[in-house]
Amino acid sequence: MATYDVSDRSAIVTGAGSGIGRSIALLLAASGASVIVNDLDGEHATSVVEEIRAAGGTAEASVGDVTDADWIAASLDAANALAPLKLAVNNAGIGGAVALIGDYPVDSWDKVISVNLSSIFLNMRAQLPAIAANGGGSIVNIASILGSVGFANSSAYVSAKHGLVGLTKNAAIEYAAQGVRVTSVGPAFIKTPLIDASLDEATQQALVGLHPIGRLGEPEEVASLVAFLGSDAASFITGSYHLVDGGYTAM
Ligand code: NAP
Repeated sequence: MATYDVSDRSAIVTGAGSGIGRSIALLLAASGASVIVNDLDGEHATSVVEEIRAAGGTAEASVGDVTDADWIAASLDAANALAPLKLAVNNAGIGGAVALIGDYPVDSWDKVISVNLSSIFLNMRAQLPAIAANGGGSIVNIASILGSVGFANSSAYVSAKHGLVGLTKNAAIEYAAQGVRVTSVGPAFIKTPLIDASLDEATQQALVGLHPIGRLGEPEEVASLVAFLGSDAASFITGSYHLVDGGYTAM
């Protein structure tokens, strides 16, 4: 797998105890970054940190909720203590209820908007000035194909991911002059614990047919795009939304 040079900097990866975030944290560490591994679950975060250290990399666990202002402030300090913070990957996300809009539970709507959209604003509100103060860098926000197309019974998730894509554009415009590039990534269905917990095997098989490549994606295939966008190799890329979808949205 291609690696991109992200040495001499620290990187915050949220929701990195599992799935896509875990693969991103492993690849960024293998590519030279000192990684803050965030997760709600301390055992998961610690296990990823141990994997990184066993491979010769540098990482610290940072247990906390991405919607929590105290955790956000602490994450910047923890990152800068390792190396200048120049990279943040806002990956933590949840699925939410599965229901028609007419039946959609309001508490699930509020929770999904909070974790999948408001947290991106709150984290970037802190990360953008912090990265600018370190001379610039990159923020990659994990959206979904559902940042550009709808999916029945998932109105909160689709709305949050569309909002994330727009928020990313605004951040890019506002902070380009200060050297901070901001992009979003749109995976199709990727084999992770989130998918295994929310979709049975028959549903996953049916979804395979929506991907012209003929399978679901692997977390490592998202991580390689994120590592590229986060590195200086992507120095003229900002504000854009990058699909990694096996052809899903081409049909
Ligand atoms: P996952 O395996 O469930 O991993 C998500 C991680 O985020 C979990 O470790 C979870 O911790 C953590 N998390 C959830 N809420 C959090 C919070 N408030 N604060 C801190 N951490 C939190 O999911 P995934 O499939 O890798 O998804 C990662 C991202 O990719 C999400 O933004 C998702 O929307 C997006 N995405 C996924 C797919 C897919 O098909 N898998 C497709 C498109 C986009 P706990 O396990 O402890 O709750």
